[in-house]
Parts: sequence; C-alpha cells; structure tokens
Amino acid sequence: MRVGIVGAGFGGLSAAAHLVAKGHQVTVFERGPGPGGRATTDVVDGFRMALGPTILTMPAIVGEAFAALGTELEREVTLAPLDPAYRAVFADGSEFRVRHGRDAMAEEVLEFAGPREAANFEAFADWLTELYRIEMPNFIDTQWDGVGDLLGKWRVLVQLARQAGFRRLDQAVASFLEEPRLQRVFSFQSLFAGVAPQQALSLYAVITYMDTIAGVYEVRGGISAVADALARVLARRGVEFEYDSPVTRILRRGDGTGAVDGVEIAGDQRVRLDAVVCDVDLPVAYRTLLDVKAPRRTRHAQYAPSCVVWSAGVRGIPPAGTEHHNLHFGWEWDDAFAALASGVRMRDASTFVTVASQTDPTAAPDGCSTIFALEPVPNLGGKVDWASEADQHAGVLRDRLRSYGYPVDDVVVERFVDPLRWRALGLDLGTPFSLAHTFAQTGPLRPRNIDERVPGLAFTGGGTVPGVGVPMVMLSGRLAAQRIEQYAVATRTVRW
Ligand SMILES: Cc1cc2nc3c(=O)[nH]c(=O)nc-3n(C[C@H](O)[C@H](O)[C@H](O)COP(=O)(O)OP(=O)(O)OC[C@H]3O[C@@H](n4cnc5c(N)ncnc54)[C@H](O)[C@@H]3O)c2cc1C
Repeated sequence: MRVGIVGAGFGGLSAAAHLVAKGHQVTVFERGPGPGGRATTDVVDGFRMALGPTILTMPAIVGEAFAALGTELEREVTLAPLDPAYRAVFADGSEFRVRHGRDAMAEEVLEFAGPREAANFEAFADWLTELYRIEMPNFIDTQWDGVGDLLGKWRVLVQLARQAGFRRLDQAVASFLEEPRLQRVFSFQSLFAGVAPQQALSLYAVITYMDTIAGVYEVRGGISAVADALARVLARRGVEFEYDSPVTRILRRGDGTGAVDGVEIAGDQRVRLDAVVCDVDLPVAYRTLLDVKAPRRTRHAQYAPSCVVWSAGVRGIPPAGTEHHNLHFGWEWDDAFAALASGVRMRDASTFVTVASQTDPTAAPDGCSTIFALEPVPNLGGKVDWASEADQHAGVLRDRLRSYGYPVDDVVVERFVDPLRWRALGLDLGTPFSLAHTFAQTGPLRPRNIDERVPGLAFTGGGTVPGVGVPMVMLSGRLAAQRIEQYAVATRTVRW
C-alpha cells in the first residue's frame, strides 16, 4: 500500500519503520525542516542545546524500529549506560545518586540509608520488576478496542491487584521504603506521565522501573541523534521524506466508506494514499485535519501539567560532583503538587537539570557548558498569565540555578520555552506531555489509535495508546503500523 505518515516525530518514524519492513511504500510528510519533532536540538555557536527529551530509557524498545529495518540502534548511534543515571539533590543539601544496575543501586541505598533500607530496596526492586513483567505485554504493548477487552485480561487484572497496582503510588512506595527522601526519588517519575505521586495509581511505578531499574542511557549527540539516525536508515530503505510540508487535511473517499484517500499539503497540493498514520497531537489532529468530530474522551480530555525549559550555552563549568542529569528537590512536596493541581506555579519547585557537556565533550566548546533546566508548571488551563509573566518566571528559574551553583551568568546563547510556546508548536493546552495518565485515560480508556469512521487511518503519539515518552511513543508507532497492516490485509490492497 501507499502509506503516508503525517509527522516525523518518534511516533511517525517508528510507524514508518514497521510499515516499510512489511513492504509498504511509505512517505513521511513533516511540516518542519527535519525529523525528531519534540526531540529537537539547536546547535548554536558550538553549543548543542536540547529543547525536548534528554533521558533515554528502554533502548531495547527504541531498537525494535532499527531491528525491523535490519540494523541495530547501537550500530547507528553511540549509546552507553549513564552511571549515575542522575544525582538527586535534596533541599537539606544531601545527595543520592541513582546508579545504573540493581547491585550498584542497592549499594548506594546501603550507604545512604543503612542495611534495613537496602533490604527494603531489594523488595521494592522485585516489586517494580514484577509490575513491569505483568504490565508490559498485557497493558502497555497491546492494542485496545474497548473496555470490554479487559474481560479477557481478568486474570492479569487479579495479578495486578495482588501487586497493589491500584493503590496510590506514594503509598505503595512508602510501604517499601522508609526514608522520605528515597520515597521522593522513586516516585517523582509519575510526573513524567502527568500525574502527581499522590494521585497516580501505583501501576505507574513501571516508569520508575524504566528509569531506575532498567537504567538511563546516553546518546552521543543527544536524543535527537536517534531520530536523525532512524530517518537516515528509513531513507536508505526507500522511505521518502517531504519536509516543510504541512498537512492541512486528511482526505477521505466520497464513495460512502469514508476511507482515507490521501493528504492535502499546504492547502493546495493533493497526494493520493491508501492509508495514513497521523503523528499529530491527537486532539489537534481531529480539530485541524479531519472532518469527523473527535470522540468524547478526546474532547473532554484531562491534560498533563506543562513545563518551562531554560536551555543555554554558558561559559564556565558547574561545580565538582555535577552529573549529566541532576534533580533538585525543593523543601515542599505535597504542597508543590497541590499548587500545580490548582493551576499556580510551585513556590518551591523541584527542578530537573541536564548538563550534557559533563559527559559529552561534543555538547559545548572547551571551558563551556550546556544547561537544560526543566520545571513542571501548570498548563494553559491554569492561572498563570504567561504573556506577561514569562520573563519573571525565567528570572526565578535562573536565580534558582545560580543558587545551586550552575554557571548561569555568562550566557552565550539561551532559549526559554513556556506553555504559550508549546501551544504555538501545536500542542493543546500548551503542554508537551499530552493527556495525563489518569486511570480514566489509561489503556482501554485512552483515546484509541483508530477511528472506525475513517478506515485506513491510525494514530500514533503520546495522545493515544500506550502514552507519553519516547519508548511509549515508539511502541505507539508500532501499534499504529499493525493497524494499517491489518487494514491492508482486510482490504486486500495490492502492494506496490
Ligand atoms: C521538554 C520535554 C522534555 C521531555 N523529556 C523526555 C525525556 O527525558 N524522556 C522521554 O522519553 N520523553 C520526554 N519527553 C516526551 C517526548 O519528547 C515525547 O513523548 C515524544 O518525543 C513525542 O513524540 P511524537 O512523535 O508523539 O510527537 P512529536 O515529537 O511532537 O512529533 C510530531 C511531529 O508532527 C509534526 N506535525 C505536526 N502537525 C503537522 C502537520 N499538520 N503536518 C505535518 N507535520 C506535522 C511536528 O512538526 C512533529 O515533528 C519530553 C518532552 C518535552 C517537550
């Protein structure tokens, strides 16, 4: 079949890989000048500045797309485990390093909190591993056609309930770990899924598993290098890339089937296609590209909080002990999340700081550093007036970084991204983290990756199943490709 992919983010690239592997003729239409989508890197004056993802987890999942194309992720990019994965710095000045590998981590816990907590950590790590084992094939890497699918999985649901998968995450973590600082280190990850640990179900501890048990990896050149490499391999395999080509409509046949007929580019050019995979933020895709009303769960979606990012190239080197990834916890914890939920900025925010130049000499010129600082903030449904307050917020963030010892006073180049900017990039409610992973927006309850009214269309990306983050979006691309392959078989379209 001739398949068009709308968007060259990780979701679109993954779908392209799995479709071309099945023999389809694939064209990727991307409105921007290159691949990667949110995984963007700006190179200015010798500084490589990230504006999107910096933490790569689960390279095996990312590697599936490369494997489908007959190569390996490790052959196409330089990849290495990052150890420590990150340094957690607490408000009292104490530090804990999240190490790569369970044994190293257990030793770290022993040193930080003593033998009893080290034993607790072993039980906790077993629990995380078991959760992952249950959830990955049954709830994450799976197609959903409706809530009824859960009936066929009742045994697994029972297993999950036995593992306390339906408790609150903070309580579940606290039932293993006694040390409050470690409870924070092993539960904050739910924020990646758009839900505070106090609200998240403990089944989201799988994110903690990916981060702290399976480990974090460093890609030379940043995560955007993975997207560049995948696009390169896809091009080698005959996939065509049409950059600077905004899709303005997904065209449907007028023969009563409503099936996909092609795409319209830039309002005038039409390209005939048999099927389309859409990597555009799902609610935006319904609003701007389709002539069918979005399903209820998409129209009434609850969005994740957003973030601000200050990404800069600076002269100077951070203090000794600074790692590639550094997580600075504020004093506040429950109150900080409560502020976020009520739509205001946290008074004493936790801040995530990546200094890629600490381990990657290609990230910045000699004697210089790149600093990427991310702070969770309310999305545009909150009460912050970003149009008038963005500069003040940028100043507060920079002052905080200065107080942590980062060299932020001799800035060569900088970017500040706030929720208004995310919205301008086409992300609803100004959040790059799409639909929050609440219970009501998980698995069979999350917007589906197909719409039966539009045969031949499949969705990929964080707004559909399984969810947000590079590994999940890579899975969503494979799941979308499977949908198109099923459509191809069902319609017995002759392959090109
Ligand atoms: C600041 C930040 C930090 C993050 N940190 C991490 C992290 O550390 N680890 C992690 O795993 N994840 C992280 N994420 C999440 C991760 O980046 C995303 O989940 C993932 O990259 C989304 O991929 P995608 O393909 O769904 O969407 P996108 O990357 O947004 O791709 C969609 C593509 O579609 C294109 N497009 C949109 N509309 C059209 C149109 N009409 N026509 C043609 N093309 C169109 C866009 O230009 C874009 O290239 C982070 C995200 C952000 C923003």
